[in-house]
Amino acid sequence: MTEPLFKKLTLVGLGLIGSSIARAARKYGAAERIVALDASKQVLSRVRELEIADEASGDVRSALEGADLVILCVPVGAIGAVAREIAPHLRHGAVLSDVGSVKASVIAQVAPHVPEGVHFVPAHPLAGTEFSGPDAGFATLFQNRWCILTPPAGESEAVEELAEFWKRLGARVETMSAEHHDLALAITSHLPHLIAYNIVGTADHLERVTQSEVIKFSASGFRDFTRIAASDPTMWRDVFLNNKDAVLEMLDRFNADLASLRTLIERSDGQGLFDLFTRTRAIRRGIIEQGQDTAAPDFGRGATGKL
Ligand code: NAP
Repeated sequence: MTEPLFKKLTLVGLGLIGSSIARAARKYGAAERIVALDASKQVLSRVRELEIADEASGDVRSALEGADLVILCVPVGAIGAVAREIAPHLRHGAVLSDVGSVKASVIAQVAPHVPEGVHFVPAHPLAGTEFSGPDAGFATLFQNRWCILTPPAGESEAVEELAEFWKRLGARVETMSAEHHDLALAITSHLPHLIAYNIVGTADHLERVTQSEVIKFSASGFRDFTRIAASDPTMWRDVFLNNKDAVLEMLDRFNADLASLRTLIERSDGQGLFDLFTRTRAIRRGIIEQGQDTAAPDFGRGATGKL
């Protein structure tokens, strides 16, 4: 049996990601003791019923006492207020991290509250589903998924410890700047979600297409968009509001490319369409070759490497 990497792990926010970390940390022995801290009584009582943490508490002081790893798993829009609330209770020498889908904004919100002697290493596991809450989590969510760390300079020891933690949970770890992360994720995750929200919204608005037809013919491509468009509204509202510049930049590029595509159709340019679709097909094959297309092993509800 390998040694636990941390003595006490406190997870703040026990939704899909927080509860998955709790389950995975226990399954793979990454922490000796796992404590759940959440603002919601219902969430805490569900965590107790599910027995996914050693302790579930709404008391900030006791939940954080002696914790050597604290991970904030709350929506990006709430993270600054949560950081302010927990900061006075963080142990000297503790590693503080998060799982937010946007990084520069999280750093701007959290960093001012981090006490001296606490090591803040922001992180983002690229793993998720369209489900929310403690029931939605599962231990294998992070298997073979990337976890991106966006640490400040001078935190190499804490970065190494956190990287080991994520590797223990089955993830592959990469380090980059917060700005690079936000730009890369704007195209690979945020824009696809925006497109899905938009196309499902458009279908809903189309007067000639009734709701029943939308569902009836959903196998023809629309179904995949509806799954993405079912993603948590709070989380995604916060992602777009907190990664505005990068998303708008990518949206402008997308609109320009869509206009070119429209021109190809208008001009009946079959060769142009064929060439583009051949290039995009090669991208899909590359994703499959890198093992990033499959659902997690024991989860059949459409787990994705999204976000
Ligand atoms: P979730 O299932 O909705 O869970 C969020 C949890 O945080 C809920 O238990 C929520 O309680 C709690 N919470 C909200 N505000 C809080 C506050 N002020 N204090 C304490 N707890 C609070 O969301 P999630 O999908 O796990 O997402 C959590 C974070 O992970 C987000 O930052 C998101 O960007 C990131 N992330 C998500 C995914 C994904 O695919 N879902 C993937 C990677 C990263 P209530 O339900 O009572 O509000």
